[in-house]
Amino acid sequence: MRQAGSCRGGCAMRVLSRKFQATFKSWESLFREAADFATGLGPERLISISHSAEHSEGIVVVWYWGDPSTCPECQYDLTGNASGRCPECGLKI
Ligand SMILES: [Zn+2]
Repeated sequence: MRQAGSCRGGCAMRVLSRKFQATFKSWESLFREAADFATGLGPERLISISHSAEHSEGIVVVWYWGDPSTCPECQYDLTGNASGRCPECGLKI
């Protein structure tokens, strides 16, 4: 059996996804945004990146291992936060 790499605080890691969405003209910036996020996650948390198009919008989804109680952007602890927005960096959850 393989032990999970980063298993702090009782193995709360789950498979999470983060969606990047923009109008069609900007695939490049969309990919760059997703790549920046994936780079921040590091190789042991990144699972995969997929993309698709819906109507006139491009969608890039980054799949990763993460703790659902922390902000994916700044790792701020979101336990008990019901506002739908990270108070630290303003990310929509
Ligand atoms: Zn945040």
